[in-house]
Order: sequence, then C-alpha cells, then structure tokens
Amino acid sequence: MESIKKLSEKKYDVVIVGGGIIGLASAYAAVKKGLSVALVERESQNKDASVRNFGFVTVSGQQRGTHWQRAMHTRDVWADIATKADIEVVHRGLHMLIQRPEAMDVAEAFLQTEMGTDCRLLTQTEIAKNAPYLKDGLGVLYSPHEIRVESKTAISKLANWLHQAHGVDFYNKTTVQSIELPMIYTSRGTLQAEHCVVCPGADFHSLYPETLAQAQAKLCTLNMMRVMPKKPFKLNAAVMSDLSLARYDGFAQLPEAKGLIALLDDVQSAERKAGIHLIVVQSSDGSLIIGDSHDYSDRELPFRDVRLDDLIINEFHQVMAIGEIDIVQHWLGVYPSADDVVFKATPEKGVVVGSVTGGTGASTGFAFGEELIDLVLESKQ
Ligand SMILES: Cc1cc2nc3c(=O)[nH]c(=O)nc-3n(C[C@H](O)[C@H](O)[C@H](O)COP(=O)(O)OP(=O)(O)OC[C@H]3O[C@@H](n4cnc5c(N)ncnc54)[C@H](O)[C@@H]3O)c2cc1C
Repeated sequence: MESIKKLSEKKYDVVIVGGGIIGLASAYAAVKKGLSVALVERESQNKDASVRNFGFVTVSGQQRGTHWQRAMHTRDVWADIATKADIEVVHRGLHMLIQRPEAMDVAEAFLQTEMGTDCRLLTQTEIAKNAPYLKDGLGVLYSPHEIRVESKTAISKLANWLHQAHGVDFYNKTTVQSIELPMIYTSRGTLQAEHCVVCPGADFHSLYPETLAQAQAKLCTLNMMRVMPKKPFKLNAAVMSDLSLARYDGFAQLPEAKGLIALLDDVQSAERKAGIHLIVVQSSDGSLIIGDSHDYSDRELPFRDVRLDDLIINEFHQVMAIGEIDIVQHWLGVYPSADDVVFKATPEKGVVVGSVTGGTGASTGFAFGEELIDLVLESKQ
C-alpha cells in the first residue's frame, strides 16, 4: 500500500482549517499566545464570504451585549494590525440617514443605551460639511466606531503578514478530509497537531456535519454590486438607511423599533420581504460597493434575481444625492445564518469548530477567533 505523504515534519500546536477571516483571526489569536500554527485552505486563497463582503467593520447595529463587545474589540484589532499588515483603512465611521419620524425614535433610543456612547445626531452644518452627498432627511445618526477595509486585498495581506511576521505556515490548495489527532489528513498528505480549529464558513457538510447541524443554520444568499459614480466624490463614512435601523439587531431589537418595523413592512414591503437594506462603502478608486438582499434557503442559490438589484439601486437613490452611477460588477455571497449569531462546539478533545452565523464575521472575527483558541486549549485540559 502506498504510504501517506507527510506535508511537514513539524508537529504544530494548532492547525487551523479554513483561510477566511475566522481562520486567519484564529491563527492570529494562536500566535499571540506563542503557539506554532499552520493554516490549511482548500483554494489558492479564500474566494467566499470573507472577500465577497463590504469589508465593513460595523459596531453600531451589532446585537447588544456580547456580540457588540466582540465588534468593539475586533475593530480595535483591525485598526492595530492594518498598518502592520499594509491593509488600507479606506474610511471610518457611519452615517445613517434618518428619513422618517419612526426611524428618529429608534436613533434616539439607541443613543440612550451604552451602545450609543460617542455616537450622536449631526447638526445641519455638520451634515452639509461631512455628508453633502446625502439626500435631505430628518437627521443623520453618526457613529465613529466603524472602519472599512478592502476585503479582496485585505484577506491575502493578512495571510501574508501572519506568515512573514508571525511564522504561520500556509498550506493552500489543500483540503482537510478528516481529523484524528494528532493526525490531520488532507488531499495532499498529512499534518500533525496538538489541536485543530475548523473554520469552514458556510461548508457545514465536509467536516463534523453532525456537530455543525446543531447550529440549525440556513444559508443566506446576498446580492451585491460595485458601482462607479459618473461624478467622482469622496465618501467620508459608510452609509446606511432607515431599512438598516429596522434590520440590524442592535437597533431593531430595541422596543422603540416596533413602529419603524411595522411602517416599513407596509410602505417598503418588497424590500422588507427580500431582506434588503442599504450599505454603501467606498474603495480607493472611487467606486462604491452597495447592497444587499438576504434570501434564506437550505442550499446555496446559484441564480441571481436582478429584480433585487433594482430594489437596492432604488433605495440607494432614495438616500444618496450623487446622480447617475454605472454598475461595474455584480456578485452573490453566501453565509450561514441561525438564531444565534455565532456557533462554536468541541466535537472531540482538542478539536473546535466555529462559524459566525449572523453575517458579521468581518466585524466580530478577531474576538471570535480568540474565543475559538481559548476553547480548543481548554478542551485538552
Ligand atoms: C455578501 C456578503 C457581505 C457581507 N458583508 C459583511 C460586512 O460588511 N461586515 C461583516 O462583518 N460581515 C459581512 N459579511 C459576513 C462575513 O463576510 C462572514 O461572516 C465571514 O467572512 C465568514 O468568514 P469565515 O472565515 O467563517 O468563512 P469563509 O470566508 O467562507 O471562509 C471559509 C474558508 O474555509 C475553507 N474551507 C472550508 N472547508 C475546508 C476544508 N475542509 N479544508 C480546507 N479549507 C476549507 C474555504 O475554502 C474558505 O476559504 C458578509 C457576507 C457576505 C456573503
């Protein structure tokens, strides 16, 4: 019988499966503890949610409590490593255009909570100076906490930095097929490790399917677009709208959001049924990423419904006063979605599986990666 090739002679403290943001964040958490780390990714580099997203590290709007704290911490880590890893922070902060009295009720209630610390309603002078490209509304809720990175380059820069500055070994184009610690069996040979952290993103079938089934996750498919404004302008902060106040847990779960939700279910029923709200972020070439819609299913949906794009563009023009735009790219993205915003479990001693099940991995991933590493180390004690 052919002997199984060894991919390395080393025995790692931790092998991470998956090169999305959660795998990379877990690798970073492990090296910070002085552990030796290898990361195995089945593609040449991530091509899934971690590069299809907005790169919008969102704090305001995250679910109140633990998840909001994960976002605050994750934002700090992004801000810290961005310079070290040569990752550009394209813009900071968030402007939420408030267009209805019911939305103002939500914004004012949010400002009374601990999540509203350092957030405020802008004055008309500030709006004219800092967000002249927004349509007229009742006000603008400003949050200083957010940052925006260009995910399509940030993820590979983060991987390069983890390799060069922290000695993480990367095995790309390599699929992990099974784990029987200390052995990790891959499509290209074996690795050895004390611990293994599986960060499979939306792939709940390949490794530990029974454990991951406990998350009771569906797959959420999102329509996304990159557009180029005909007249160049500089976006000073990410933009969201009333629909976001009715959708993001940190706002929508406030009792004061009931009126807005009921109103929007009536007057923007097509958008609400399609899970549409507006996020606008900018890249350094002046183009904007805009989205998104949310379609929940038991499987990944291969086909894009262009009518959802029309609804997103319509909402964009209700909020942004920047004239005509050209659509330059369309794509779909998928993430796992469950009632709980994260799922983590220990299927066996020394092994942890973890996935963000609320579509917020760019915003909460560094904190979640630390939790996964703590959990896997505890599992062996
Ligand atoms: C369109 C879209 C927009 C979003 N916007 C935002 C946003 O602006 N802000 C935000 O915070 N979040 C956003 N999210 C959510 C966020 O992108 C995800 O929560 C996050 O990227 C999940 O990261 P991950 O590492 O778990 O998954 P993934 O990015 O899916 O990575 C998983 C990786 O594991 C690899 N893998 C799986 N199984 C194996 C195996 N057996 N062997 C080897 N490799 C394996 C895969 O190839 C893949 O590279 C968005 C998501 C989408 C889809």
